[in-house]
Amino acid sequence: MSNGISKKSNMKILILGSGVIGTTTAYYLARDGHEVTVIDRRGRPGLETSFANAGEISPGYASPRAGPGIPQKAIKWLMMAHPPLILRASLDPAMIEWMLRVLANCTSKAYAINKARMVRIAEYSRDLMIALRAETAIAYDERMQGTLQLFHEQKQVDAAHKDIEVLEQYGVPYQVLDRAGCIAAEPGLANSPATIAGGLRLPHDRNRRLLHLHQ
Ligand SMILES: Cc1cc2nc3c(=O)[nH]c(=O)nc-3n(C[C@H](O)[C@H](O)[C@H](O)COP(=O)(O)OP(=O)(O)OC[C@H]3O[C@@H](n4cnc5c(N)ncnc54)[C@H](O)[C@@H]3O)c2cc1C
Repeated sequence: MSNGISKKSNMKILILGSGVIGTTTAYYLARDGHEVTVIDRRGRPGLETSFANAGEISPGYASPRAGPGIPQKAIKWLMMAHPPLILRASLDPAMIEWMLRVLANCTSKAYAINKARMVRIAEYSRDLMIALRAETAIAYDERMQGTLQLFHEQKQVDAAHKDIEVLEQYGVPYQVLDRAGCIAAEPGLANSPATIAGGLRLPHDRNRRLLHLHQ
């Protein structure tokens, strides 16, 4: 058995969508001996969400959207011209069920459980990505200087302790920095007019820029 699928069966598998999820799923299934076909509405693979995201590989920052305070924020977003999340109200039962499930997960307890699950799978995915690069020799420009999340207010620094508990739980290296520590990590911040109360640095994070996307 591999990935829960019997190798002996050599199945014919159809994958809908050739983003990062579809192509990597196809890769591992084909490597396990299955006959895999990937179809996409676009002329080439990876032309939608996987095409031009921020390129951050930051397992420690993986966090659920549903969390304490989100329902209140969602009401404010409804009144914004450019909200970070757009929900089109609909009577679709699947949409209503999804919204109720999101609401049920907006508690501190559910957030902690979901964040821990996301960090665990993100750490695993990062390790798989490193192995995949070695196996396929896919080349891309990469920076490995970590990431720094800045907090404007002390209450945000204090609120980070819940995320830090999860980082501790999964052995993700981190640094909690005061303003001076943030400037030491990123000297360009010394001239920033922004108020900086502190920051959370994940030194093992990386960024990637694809060089060979369409080859
Ligand atoms: C602005 C932005 C920034 C982001 N930054 C980061 C980041 O820094 N780090 C990070 O880890 N993640 C980031 N993400 C998230 C990340 O990009 C996505 O989670 C990831 O690309 C999703 O991959 P996917 O394969 O599920 O979807 P997609 O890449 O969207 O692939 C889905 C594919 O399915 C095809 N498809 C859809 N419907 C059909 C259909 N009906 N018939 C045929 N084909 C169909 C599409 O054409 C597409 O190729 C960011 C996302 C956004 C929007």
